[in-house]
Amino acid sequence: MKRFLTNMIFPLIAFFMFATLLIPILVTVKTPIGPQQLFAYSVSPLAYSFMLTGVFIASRPRFLEKHVGMPKMYAIHALMTILAFFLVLYHIIFYWQGFGAIFRSPATIFGWIGMILIFLGMMSGILSLSGMFINKIKPLKYLKEKVLNREVMLWIHRIAGIGSVVAVYLQNVFIGFLRANTPYMIVLGLYTALILGYYFYWKLETQFLPKYKVSKIYKATPLLWVLEFEPKRGNIVEYNPGDYFFIRFKGKANITKEAHPFSTSSAITKKHSNTIEFMIKEAGDWTKSLANIKVGDVATLEGPYGDFFPPVARESESPYVLMGGGIGLTPNLSILRSEIEKKSQRRIELIWALSYESDMFMIDELESYKKVNPNFNYHIIFSNEEVKNYPFGFISNPYLEQIGVSEVYQDATFFICGPDIMMESTYNVLVKGGVPANKIYVDDFGF
Ligand SMILES: Cc1cc2nc3c(=O)[nH]c(=O)nc-3n(C[C@H](O)[C@H](O)[C@H](O)COP(=O)(O)OP(=O)(O)OC[C@H]3O[C@@H](n4cnc5c(N)ncnc54)[C@H](O)[C@@H]3O)c2cc1C
Repeated sequence: MKRFLTNMIFPLIAFFMFATLLIPILVTVKTPIGPQQLFAYSVSPLAYSFMLTGVFIASRPRFLEKHVGMPKMYAIHALMTILAFFLVLYHIIFYWQGFGAIFRSPATIFGWIGMILIFLGMMSGILSLSGMFINKIKPLKYLKEKVLNREVMLWIHRIAGIGSVVAVYLQNVFIGFLRANTPYMIVLGLYTALILGYYFYWKLETQFLPKYKVSKIYKATPLLWVLEFEPKRGNIVEYNPGDYFFIRFKGKANITKEAHPFSTSSAITKKHSNTIEFMIKEAGDWTKSLANIKVGDVATLEGPYGDFFPPVARESESPYVLMGGGIGLTPNLSILRSEIEKKSQRRIELIWALSYESDMFMIDELESYKKVNPNFNYHIIFSNEEVKNYPFGFISNPYLEQIGVSEVYQDATFFICGPDIMMESTYNVLVKGGVPANKIYVDDFGF
């Protein structure tokens, strides 16, 4: 029941808003109505409830993210926007009176502005911000990654999202019979003010987050940056192993100022008692611009977010199997470092799938952990080139048998993080091998 409520929290919020907007409308309808009319009355409040819930999700409410998870939240945000768009489209078709009617009144003008903005918000999200719909379509993926500027698209998305809510609100205000319906206008105004208020409060709050200074920055491999922050004042914020933050540089730092999400590779340990470490792979403009960052540059860290290592996994005494594909090592390393700090003697198997020999680093650190916990083992497998003394290929059941991990299929807790294709295939390998699905945690590096 608790799981169901957590999974359904945003649809429930949308449904509650919808119901409480629809009731005051229906109360004013004197004659009995059929299902078709009921649907016609429902379309607008339903679309608006989806739009408001979408804006609420865009405010990244941390108290809910910890339970639902950001990828799922953004998926709901995307679906609600698409549903809102089609509902508004239906509304337009249903009440269509020709192009001449578009400029007939402020209500129709705001309605059309709302429609265009929802469309812009939806398309900017689909084509540039979310991989959900287009990652499997090569030309569109190319468009997203190589042609469209993410920062510009993000601004279009934000302005369109907030603008569409304001336009649809104003449309309601200019519709005479709705304006005359005081309970409806109160409920509508209340929800609009609460959701927009929360959004702008969050935006303002991100501007005043505690500041962190870069205390270390270096390249560990040709494509991987290690970045360490220390608070300018006071102590670091508490976080759990595997959590992630949005890093946003401030002031004079020579890098664009949008926030990018990164998992911590550190955990709160003696070494990182007042610093937070990230490992960042060069993927595009922003990550490549880390070359311009210097010790002393200032950033804010928004978070922590994430539920890769939830309490049920933290509290379990089972062996851990940490599976990282390339940079997907980071949240797993955070868990590993926290276990080593605790001097945990549980069996821990780290499987690190890499493409090239040049991706490999921190072997000395991993070796040193074997002395602290003799039940810790690490295994590296290469997929794009043959490397002496290391196996070649992908994570498979025969490979997991060969390294002895299949012995703990029934008892261990598994953590997978890496590129989509690696996570999907590793998850399938484990499930096929008999690992219970509820013992597998997956961390998605894309929304
Ligand atoms: C929860 C989470 C944890 C992550 N942890 C790490 C980590 O520990 N180490 C690491 O190297 N990478 C991590 N990433 C990926 C990292 O955020 C992106 O590689 C980085 O933001 C790319 O930015 P760019 O401008 O260099 O590249 P771009 O070419 O702009 O983007 C490459 C891809 O990264 C994604 N991306 C870009 N900007 C953002 C953004 N602001 N928000 C969300 N996704 C974005 C998009 O899917 C895009 O297609 C994580 C991502 C998520 C969602």
